[in-house]
Amino acid sequence: MIPVVAIVGRPNVGKSSLFNRLLQRRQSIVEAEPGVTRDRLYGRTDWNGRDFTLVDTGGLEPGDETGLRAATARQAKLAVHEADLVLLVVDVKSGLTAVDREVADIVRRSGKTVFLVTNKADDGKGAPEDFFELGLGQPYPVSAAHGLGTGDLLDAIVAHLPEAVAEAVPEAVHVAVVGRPNVGKSSLVNSILGEERVITSAEPGTTRDAVDVMLSSAGRDYVLIDTAGLRKRSRVDAGIERYSVVRALRAVDRCQVAVVVLEAHEPVKEQDKRIIGYAQEAGKGLLLAVNKWDLAAEAGLTAEDVTAGVREALQFVPYAKILLVSAATGLRVGKILPAAAVIAATHAQRVDPKQLKDTVTDAWRVTPPRAEGGRRPRLLQVEQVTSRPPGFAFRVTDPQAMHFSYKRYLENRLRQQFEFDGTPIRLFFRKG
Ligand code: GDP
Ligand code: GDP
Repeated sequence: MIPVVAIVGRPNVGKSSLFNRLLQRRQSIVEAEPGVTRDRLYGRTDWNGRDFTLVDTGGLEPGDETGLRAATARQAKLAVHEADLVLLVVDVKSGLTAVDREVADIVRRSGKTVFLVTNKADDGKGAPEDFFELGLGQPYPVSAAHGLGTGDLLDAIVAHLPEAVAEAVPEAVHVAVVGRPNVGKSSLVNSILGEERVITSAEPGTTRDAVDVMLSSAGRDYVLIDTAGLRKRSRVDAGIERYSVVRALRAVDRCQVAVVVLEAHEPVKEQDKRIIGYAQEAGKGLLLAVNKWDLAAEAGLTAEDVTAGVREALQFVPYAKILLVSAATGLRVGKILPAAAVIAATHAQRVDPKQLKDTVTDAWRVTPPRAEGGRRPRLLQVEQVTSRPPGFAFRVTDPQAMHFSYKRYLENRLRQQFEFDGTPIRLFFRKG
């Protein structure tokens, strides 16, 4: 997990300004959709080659003094709890207040590393004496508005971040949620996000094809590539909605695992097949989220009926994982991300070379390829040459003579031996 740096403080001290400044415009932040609005904003950035996530605890509504104090304290506690390092922001122009002292107490008691950031030091001067009384050490004077002092602050932040342990930092699993209109993509995304702690973010720059949502769940990082969210957010009209296929394909290009949403009470449609075919061609992991399971159940269909119908229509992706879900009732929605994480691991798998050789040699011995036109192809060597998806090169005496059905036989044997559920695998035949 990459380290988390939380920005806390009472309203109006300049937390959001500092947040945006420290992100260095590398990543723009998109507001959460109405209805899934969170009270915290997250952004990922790096400085001197160290990645970290910055959390802005802003978003407090100005209310009465008591309510405000309680809300500020609650926010600070939440943020500090999940942070590796805390930036307590105070305002040199307004001076110390009682709420500043309360927040300082909270962060000091947390035992976390705390930096006192004295903001609005626009003239470049240090902080007045009274800020030292907070007992948080030497303040870092900055002007978030003008960008003064933020470089020094970033240097100090990365110097104090915990060391990232190389293999303990799993890359975020990129999951694209795609499907034809009205299958329930945004309902599913909302349902997933409703259960998890959510982080909003967006792709930097100009791409407007999807909204990337970063989130952590059960100790894993995910990037949810939400192709439906954009439409809802920007109220793109129907004319533009026609391009949703292009959007879906671009999202698939960027993912490790494509979650293709289908409808349980409807047969699989041509449009579904096209996008699934694309995901297969692109070599992506595949999870079929068969949604609206509640409607199928009402119509008297069993899980077996639905699964069999989907398998029958999609015989070209026998490896696909199927989950029957309902965004409406929440049924099994919580299984989507964990299943995607398993598929992502499978997709990136590198098998043991010895086991691979033994499996293939054995398969070849039990059922050798047919001798087309006289000579029987012999196996010389097999090795894994790619991952994401896993690809295997077979060196044989006569690749032309390898029949399609024999290749499928080899693929099935590899699938029996190794865990390749949810991912396509590729077999290459080369002349030895
Ligand atoms: P938050 O409520 O703590 O997130 O505070 P904001 O970032 O929304 O800032 C509150 C106000 O302070 C805004 O009007 C900002 O423009 C202003 N502000 C933020 N940083 C600075 C600064 O460095 N200098 C000055 N003069 N004003 C600032
Ligand atoms: P999108 O276009 O793929 O993003 O689809 P939406 O999420 O907008 O959903 C389309 C319609 O299907 C909406 O009216 C949803 O309320 C409805 N819907 C979505 N999921 C379910 C579900 O699991 N069960 C039922 N009964 N309706 C659903």
